[in-house]
Amino acid sequence: MADAETFAFQAEINQLLSLIINTFYSNKEIFLRELISNSSDALDKIRFESLTDKSKLDAQPELFIRLVPDKANKTLSIIDSGVGMTKADLVNNLGTIARSGTKEFMEALQAGADVSMIGQFGVGFYSAYLVAEKVIVTTKHNDDEQYIWESQAGGSFTVTRDISGEPLGRGTKMTLFLKEDQLEYLEERKIKDLVKKHSEFISYPIYLWTEKTTEKEISDDEDDESKVEEGAVEEVDEEKDTKSKKKKIKEVSYEWQLINKQKPIWLRKPEEITKEEYGAFYKSLTNDWEEHLAVKHFSVEGQLEFKAILFVPKRAPFDLFDTRKKMNNIKLYVRRVFIMDNCEELMPEYLGFVKGVVDSDDLPLNISRETLQQNKILKVIRKNLVKKCIEMFNEIAENKEDYNKFYEAFSKNLKLGIHEDSQNRAKLADLLRYHSTKSGDELTSFKDYVTRMKEGQKDIYYITGESKKAVENSPFLERLKKKGYEVLFMVDAIDEYAVGQLKEYDSKKLVSATKEGLKLEDETEEEKKKKEEKKLSFENLCKTIKEILGDKVEKVVVSDRIVDSPCCLVTGEYGWSANMERIMKAQALRDNSMGSYMSSKKTMEINPDNGIMEELRKRAEADKNDKSVKDLVMLLFETALLTSGFSLDEPNTFASRIHRMLKLGLSIDEDDTAEDDTDMPALEEDGAEESKMEEVD
Ligand code: ADP
Repeated sequence: MADAETFAFQAEINQLLSLIINTFYSNKEIFLRELISNSSDALDKIRFESLTDKSKLDAQPELFIRLVPDKANKTLSIIDSGVGMTKADLVNNLGTIARSGTKEFMEALQAGADVSMIGQFGVGFYSAYLVAEKVIVTTKHNDDEQYIWESQAGGSFTVTRDISGEPLGRGTKMTLFLKEDQLEYLEERKIKDLVKKHSEFISYPIYLWTEKTTEKEISDDEDDESKVEEGAVEEVDEEKDTKSKKKKIKEVSYEWQLINKQKPIWLRKPEEITKEEYGAFYKSLTNDWEEHLAVKHFSVEGQLEFKAILFVPKRAPFDLFDTRKKMNNIKLYVRRVFIMDNCEELMPEYLGFVKGVVDSDDLPLNISRETLQQNKILKVIRKNLVKKCIEMFNEIAENKEDYNKFYEAFSKNLKLGIHEDSQNRAKLADLLRYHSTKSGDELTSFKDYVTRMKEGQKDIYYITGESKKAVENSPFLERLKKKGYEVLFMVDAIDEYAVGQLKEYDSKKLVSATKEGLKLEDETEEEKKKKEEKKLSFENLCKTIKEILGDKVEKVVVSDRIVDSPCCLVTGEYGWSANMERIMKAQALRDNSMGSYMSSKKTMEINPDNGIMEELRKRAEADKNDKSVKDLVMLLFETALLTSGFSLDEPNTFASRIHRMLKLGLSIDEDDTAEDDTDMPALEEDGAEESKMEEVD
């Protein structure tokens, strides 16, 4: 034996291990699925390598998984002829480098998640410690010598060069030293059941080292010398045939028994496959612990032939929008041979949550990641897959409860699709759902919206904002509501991007309630005239306000959209909305040049029917330089920032103004209060005292 090198487990992995060992879980059996799945992955890897270099298989041409229960030593071994691990792989993969899922998995566990979710977090190997007190991993990679990894958890593991052990040729042997209360995993019946339950769709043969008993008659005198291959002889039948002096014995031998069927499910006819079978296949494909939400199994024939099964999961994975990781969950096969996982070219990014397999008859077997990119066949397959996905989503939409689940998990993806996939934009728009001024607790589609449009209503109205609560009572909705026009609430950050691309639905323009260009028609001539007069009478006030606010606003106009509030701030039709400004500020990824160019150009819209505005108009007309007008305009502007969904750059200044108002309201005399008030902007002209307005701003 060479000298063992000792390594400490990385801190999070160590934590995970003690959690696995010390916490009580009943569902321990999943360890076998995890280890078999790792073996299958390792076999996929070597098979893929061998497509371009046959010699990679030389050390062990057969691809298999073998399970060996050893009752005498209380060990269960899982052996594969996969790619194996080099010494560096052993050290890195099994202990010193934590995956992003390590921490997430522990958090999920603490939040009550089931341990069977472990595979989804990419730390499945450690599930061995659910049943084992010690694990020995012997492994041989083509590029390195054979090594042994060993650990009883407890903070460290060792790695040793394997000089004297039985050579594996190539591959990995995991030997689990089972805990005393986990010996059931040595039983043939149990192992077979587990493989059937969790690993049925593994596409490599899984063999179980099984005990076989045959009865044999032998004559008495042969008895002692009888030698049975690899097995023990046990005397069972006492009943001796005295005449012939023969007796029956049981002969125990061992053999490899194949315990999984490997015919790929996608080659079978869809009508012959049960829902349970799809469910089992989905689980084995994805490591999910729940069944799928929807499935689409189809084949394309003609110039190009392929078969595929696509699944929609019930939930979004924990790392759905993790940008470090390109999500793609389609396994590519060529004429039944697994080629690769995560084939990016097969699905657009926004459909990364769809899982499944594609088996092509037309692609060359030795296709590499590099040549994939230009491959025309793949482009056609991709187009078909997207089409089928959208069909599948529409099928889900037929069941409201299912669709709600789907929408909650994946609406962001659909919206990303609107943004990215111009070809399917219209079809994707049909799948969108929103709350609206008329939808109550339910969500509504564009299609339903259109059926409810009032006579004379030409456009589809929406408002963007931070939350339903924040937008449903927004001043921007006042006129629209009064006219009975429905307004969609778009309160997902990504809505801003999606709606910016969508622009229209069913030839109806999508119009933002918070931006310029909101024109509400269908007024009588009389109404129009009245309005024009009002507008004229407020023209001077508009000018005055613009002078006071300066660069803070682009312009000041008489509003068409508000009924109750005194004023609001709208943004340019093609610039950022208040909501977009909020999102961009939060993302901090905007560079400043872009900020000033895109950031919202605000127009103040004032409501001529509002009492405050009327009073302001009078005061401004009496004296254009009236200080109280200035102060009130500032206050109105800042309040409008808030009600229109912007944020205040200087909340303290705003607060000071409000406090000053409060004092006025409470008739507290300014002179009686403490000196800290001196900073405060005056609200009314106050004899000789100059307003501090300019300094504050
Ligand atoms: P995951 O399999 O999800 O990546 P695991 O914790 O199960 O996470 O395994 C960690 C890594 O260890 C794997 O990614 C793989 O590189 C390596 N590994 C595990 N089992 C095997 C095996 N049987 N053969 C080769 N490599 C393996």
